[in-house]
Amino acid sequence: MKYLIVGAVAGGASTAARLRRMDEHATIIIFEKGEYISYANCGLPYYIGDVIKDRNKLFVQTAISFNARFNIDVRVTTEVTAIDPVNKTVTAVKQATGEVYVETYDKLILSPGAEPLRPPLPGIASEGIFTLRNVNDTDYIKRYIQHNQVKKVLVIGAGFIGLEMAENFHDLGLDVTVIEMGNQILAPVDFPIAAIVQQHIRSKGINLRLSTAVTGFTKNGQQIDVALNNGETIAAEMVLLSIGVRPDTRLAVQAGLKTGTARGIWVNEYLQTSNPDIYAVGDAIEFENPITGQSMITYLAGPANKQGRICANNVVLGNVQKYQGSINTAIVKVFDLTVGSAGTAAKHLKAANIDHIVSTTHSGSHAAYYPGAKQMSIQIAFSPKDGRLLSAQIAGYDGVDKRLDILSSYIKQQKTIYDLIEFEHAYAPPYSSAKDPVNMAGFVAENILLDRLRVFYWNETNNIKPGDILLDVRRTDEFSKGEIPGAINIPVDEIRNRLDEIPTDKTIYIYCEAGLRGYLAQRILRQSGFDNVFNLSGGYYLWKTCTAEQ
Ligand code: FAD
Repeated sequence: MKYLIVGAVAGGASTAARLRRMDEHATIIIFEKGEYISYANCGLPYYIGDVIKDRNKLFVQTAISFNARFNIDVRVTTEVTAIDPVNKTVTAVKQATGEVYVETYDKLILSPGAEPLRPPLPGIASEGIFTLRNVNDTDYIKRYIQHNQVKKVLVIGAGFIGLEMAENFHDLGLDVTVIEMGNQILAPVDFPIAAIVQQHIRSKGINLRLSTAVTGFTKNGQQIDVALNNGETIAAEMVLLSIGVRPDTRLAVQAGLKTGTARGIWVNEYLQTSNPDIYAVGDAIEFENPITGQSMITYLAGPANKQGRICANNVVLGNVQKYQGSINTAIVKVFDLTVGSAGTAAKHLKAANIDHIVSTTHSGSHAAYYPGAKQMSIQIAFSPKDGRLLSAQIAGYDGVDKRLDILSSYIKQQKTIYDLIEFEHAYAPPYSSAKDPVNMAGFVAENILLDRLRVFYWNETNNIKPGDILLDVRRTDEFSKGEIPGAINIPVDEIRNRLDEIPTDKTIYIYCEAGLRGYLAQRILRQSGFDNVFNLSGGYYLWKTCTAEQ
């Protein structure tokens, strides 16, 4: 058999290595238009920021080592420019010499990845405006900073890569401004979790500008004047565009392969394109989201690598393994904060008309009495019908990755919030609490589903009608430092003795700092003749954070 692969980084290299493990005698040729194969895209921001100091560490394999280990014919700086699916050939161009040749295949695998968006704004081609996708981009950016002694940089787009780059530029001592067109950073997460991260970024000295679009660039000597849609101009010496990517479907389209509604290469559950002899993996493909049932593209290294393995199995053994889809589990370090998400954000569930309830809990990363415990905020969304977990988002300082991975596997396995209650974890004080934050998220969700807890949300405080009661149950000293306007204060420990101060015929909206004391107060009131009692999900902390970032 003769297998050809287009693209030799995450999905392509993974497919090639697995193909060899499955078929020792096949001819395997991998084409890569860039100079490098199988490198760590995900490490590029940290090499620019000098966290990874040795450039060689970025390369998992080289063409020579890959060939030595896997007996694969690696053709770098060679671009595949066309596919002839009828005659089962590809046309390739050697970039160094311009030589064009044709290669036949039995099976072809496409892993061409995605390309960064570069909107046709005036001046976008000016020197000093970069995108970051590969090693060459990385080298240019690093060299440009050094040679031009860059001090001020503008990052356009506050997605995962934009934020990683903002941090790394900041760590290099640069003055960093981040411009984001949306009203929040990190589009895959919901506003409350984004708001926590936004506050953190600002506290680190990054100038974050939301709801702001760039309209053009003017090169002015060493400086780039960046025009904004509010009429303002910001000057910087360098600009990084990180406004997103789109799947590279050029070859697939030219070959007449089907593309889907998300504009990626359409594949079936075996990662086979509309042509049975051509498979595709990675950032370029689209498939059904296991939660919404809608077509989606995942721009993540984990899915690309895992698809490579499945794809190779299917190519060699003949469609034996189904790809289960991805729920977009992603994580990013934002200075000392970690934020991550899995599943479908509440805003996207709403857009897809999927019924859901949202609950936010704040828990310690480990037992409060053991030094170093830090708060983490977990937001989950689940089905009101059966409690099926639909998404989880976490922001915190320690142990976020562990909890996110747990929640992600529950979501992927279509488990419910009742399973979170049963989740059994390894506990000793330095690592967790006897009730882990994952259990806590489950307990609160169960209380909501069983109507032991009724919640309202930070953005509903304005809807409280005159005459209804907004009740702050924190300590008096906490209340005196700041409260939600219109609130009265009865600390939770006094509430049993002061029930006569609360009218029974009104709706009562309770809040405390994080949500727990409010829940306790609600249980007291609900069992003392008060019917309409709600507790603020995420508490005053979340209200304050979201209100500040609104
Ligand atoms: P790629 O890995 O991009 O490989 C595609 C390759 O195909 C490219 O090298 C391209 O040159 C080559 N190619 C394209 N067309 C042709 C052609 N016609 N002929 C020959 N070669 C061709 N994901 C995470 O999960 N976590 C992270 O922390 C993370 N960080 C990232 C940081 C950065 C800076 C970047 C850029 C990406 C990051 N990603 C991260 C995303 C992850 O790298 C991608 O999802 C993954 O690499 C996709 O794999 P792929 O094989 O589809 O595409």
